[in-house]
Amino acid sequence: MKIISERLLAMEESATIAMAQKARELKSKGVDVISLSLGEPDFKTPEHICRAAKEAIDTGNYFAYPPVPGYADLREAIAQKFERENNIPTTAANVVVSTGAKQSLANIFMSILNPGDEVIVLSPYWVSYADLIKVAEGKPVLVKGSLENDFKATATQIEQAITPQTKALIYSSPCNPTGSVFTHDELKAIAQVLQKHPQVLVIADEIYEHINFTGAHVSMGAFPEMQGRVITVNGVAKGFAMTGWRIGYISAPETIAKACSKIQGQFTSGANSIAQRATLAALTSDLEPTRQMAEAYRSRRALVHKLLSEIPGVKVNMPQGAFYFFPEVSSYFGKAFQGNTITNATDLCMYLLNEAHVSLVTGEAFGSPECVRLSYAASENDLKEAIHRIKSALEKLN
Ligand code: PMP
Ligand code: GLU
Repeated sequence: MKIISERLLAMEESATIAMAQKARELKSKGVDVISLSLGEPDFKTPEHICRAAKEAIDTGNYFAYPPVPGYADLREAIAQKFERENNIPTTAANVVVSTGAKQSLANIFMSILNPGDEVIVLSPYWVSYADLIKVAEGKPVLVKGSLENDFKATATQIEQAITPQTKALIYSSPCNPTGSVFTHDELKAIAQVLQKHPQVLVIADEIYEHINFTGAHVSMGAFPEMQGRVITVNGVAKGFAMTGWRIGYISAPETIAKACSKIQGQFTSGANSIAQRATLAALTSDLEPTRQMAEAYRSRRALVHKLLSEIPGVKVNMPQGAFYFFPEVSSYFGKAFQGNTITNATDLCMYLLNEAHVSLVTGEAFGSPECVRLSYAASENDLKEAIHRIKSALEKLN
C-alpha cells in the first residue's frame, strides 16, 4: 500500500512555487539568478499597516484564537469595502477571512463540489485552480481564450461548455497569468448566458483589482441579475504588498460563507490574529500607497512590453492589469542548444534558468503550453537585465 494517498499523488505541486524554489536553490549556490517566477510584489508592506500590527501586539488583546470566520470588526470593514469599492451587496455574515486567497479558494471548492461536479475554468487560468478543484473531487473544464482576444474566453465559448454537471465558473480579472481584464460588456454577456443556467455559481477572483490599468474594475457580484450566486474572492497580498501576511477573504451567499467557515473551523481555526489587524488597517485607510505601487507596475509594463517585442519569435499582447506578461514562445520549440532540443515551454524555462539565470514559469501550469509567464514585479534594472539575458539565450538556439 502506498503511504501517500491517491488524492495527493494526483495533485501537481504548485509550479509557481516550485520554480521560485529552484531559483532560490541556484541563488544559494552563488548563481546570480533573476527571479521573475513568483507573482509577488517587490515592495514592502506600507508602514501604516505594519504599525497597526505592532500596535495590535502591544495591546495584548489579540493573542487568543480569533473567531473562525474572522474578527467581527474586520468582517464589517470588508463588507463595507465590497459595498464601497465594488458595489457588491455584502454584510458581515457573507464574509469569511482566511489564510490567503488560496485558502479562500480551497474552502469554496470543498464547500460546493460533489464528486464529478464540473467547474468551468477560464483558461489560461491561475495555476492552483485546477488542482484545488480536483482535490475537492470536482472536474475542471478548461475554456480557452485566444491570444488574439487578449486570452479572454467569450460568452459563446462558455455557453458551449455548460452541461447539467456544471456547478461553477471561475475566472480571475485582472487575470493571472495573462494580465487580461474583463470589460463591463464582456462580463455582462457572460452573465446573460448564466441567467439561462441558474444552478451555476460564479467564483470571481479579484485579487489584482488594484493593479488595473483600464481605470475600471468590474465585479460580476455587482450585477443585480447575478445576486445570490457570485462568490467574490480577494485578499491583501497583491494590492498591499502583503503576500507573507497570508490574508484572503470572500463575499459569498450566506450558506456558502457558513460552509467555508465550517471547513476552516476544522482545518485552521481561522486566520492569524495579528495579520487580521493589519488587514483592517489596509482596508480602512487611504489607498495612496497602493496607487503608487500600481503606477510603478504601469511604467514597468511599458518597459517590458517594449523589450519583449524586440525579441524575434516572441509574441506578446499588452496586459491590462496584474503584473504578468504571458508571451507565446512556441517558435522556439524544436530548436536546440548543444544537442539538447527544447520541446516545450517547460524545457524552455529550464533552459532559460540554467543558461540565462532567469526564472520564469512554464505556461503548461496555466493551461497554455505555448507560453511562459514572466512576473514584472521586479526592479527596472532587473527587468532590463533579465530580458537582455533571455534574448541572448534565445539567440543561441538553432
Ligand atoms: N488568486 C490569484 C489569481 C493569485 O495570483 C494568487 C496568488 N497570490 C492567489 C489567488 C492566492 O493569493 P494569496 O497569496 O492571498 O493566497
Ligand atoms: N500567486 C502567485 C503566483 O502566481 C504566488 C504563488 C502562488 O501562490 O502559487 O506566482
